[in-house]
Amino acid sequence: MSLDTVHISFRRVTELKRLVRKCFTCKKRTRHVGEFEDWSGWTIRCCACGDSWQQTMDGWWLTPRPFERGWRKRAVAKAQELWRKAGETKAAEAEARP
Ligand SMILES: [Zn+2]
Repeated sequence: MSLDTVHISFRRVTELKRLVRKCFTCKKRTRHVGEFEDWSGWTIRCCACGDSWQQTMDGWWLTPRPFERGWRKRAVAKAQELWRKAGETKAAEAEARP
């Protein structure tokens, strides 16, 4: 277990939802999963490239990418896992607002 895994376990996600929107990285419409957290608000992850963005007052900011080999593969797997999880709670695929 790495330290960042421990850190993530402290985050409190209160809402999870599926989005289909244009990815800033992929430059096309892809599946995203959105997580709402008490302290930081919305974070969206692309299920195709693994990048994630945080919602700020100025728009969406790319979450810093870890300096690790293979992080993208793990990030994609995590996004897909969350996508499946989101499907269990909400059946409808919502169109993204942002
Ligand atoms: Zn993407």
